[in-house]
Amino acid sequence: MTEEQDDIFESMPIISPTVSNNDVGTTPHNHNLNHNHSHSHDHGTNIEDINHSDSSSSITSNSEIQNLKIEEKRRLLPDILPKVQCIARARIPTTQGPEIFLHLYSNDMDKKEHLAIVFGEDIRSRSLYKFRKDETQSDRMIRGAYVGKLYPGRKNADFDKSTNMKLEFDKESGDLIIDSKTTWCNPTLVRIHSECYTGETAWSARCDCGEQFDEAGRLMGLQGHGCIVYLRQEGRGIGLGEKLKAYNLQDLGADTVQANLLLRHPADKRSFGMATAILLDLGLLEIKLLTNNPDKIIAVEGKNRLIKVTERVPMVPLAWKGEEGGVKSTEVEGYLRTKVEKMGHLLSKPI
Ligand SMILES: [Zn+2]
Repeated sequence: MTEEQDDIFESMPIISPTVSNNDVGTTPHNHNLNHNHSHSHDHGTNIEDINHSDSSSSITSNSEIQNLKIEEKRRLLPDILPKVQCIARARIPTTQGPEIFLHLYSNDMDKKEHLAIVFGEDIRSRSLYKFRKDETQSDRMIRGAYVGKLYPGRKNADFDKSTNMKLEFDKESGDLIIDSKTTWCNPTLVRIHSECYTGETAWSARCDCGEQFDEAGRLMGLQGHGCIVYLRQEGRGIGLGEKLKAYNLQDLGADTVQANLLLRHPADKRSFGMATAILLDLGLLEIKLLTNNPDKIIAVEGKNRLIKVTERVPMVPLAWKGEEGGVKSTEVEGYLRTKVEKMGHLLSKPI
């Protein structure tokens, strides 16, 4: 470590004082952060210590320990899921070919508009389709609670004469009656994606979020059904401003985990209860999850395992597979290395 780096890192506490006991359980990682290491000078070693329990080799080498850890991690998840409500749904033809149905959600936990990018017309939000008092068929079509396809002059949201599909509702509750002829109920490919302005819009090669997002959409388009839950938690939950500061710390020699800790944020501030709630609303109870992160599987299943991950589908970076279009940069190599070495991601670079 050079003198300049030493000075910068010395002046900041290594462990976030903002991580309190109350934060335990909101993310799969931050329960590791409650040890106080701030007395030591050897920062690199401390950060290794903090994350020692997430090493992927120990997870795969002993299934008994793995099970204990999973139970322990599950126990730390929040008891209550946010209440979500789908506000509107619309068909979006895409530049990539497949049509998607974009669902916009409100919730009772934060002020953000989280989204579900749905492949398949017959994946239906329970909260969107629930019949509301005194509403008209055109109200229902305008908010997207229709079956089949809209066309000029269509009058009835619940019946599409071009496909002869009809939705039925419980007379008392107004709930959609789930019939496999009109509503999808099978295991479904799912990706939980956290917003990344830099990677998705500003062409950043510091991370592979844009590539992973595109690849998830491509796979779902091929399968015909799928859902990308798009959570508005930029920069592993710390926000764009703090993420930009973390990038500067990375340019000064820190890795992605160290940079967050130096800014007094947990290594990963994200939570996935919102995703669980959205998947439940869409009736996607059995999912094939596209991820390399074993903690995400536990997190999305939730404390009571209302969602079941029946399969994990790995996301191998395209550049590692020698395919076109992958993110290539020295920064993304370091970013992926930190995910594997410090965050327990199940990813190995082919030789
Ligand atoms: Zn990113």
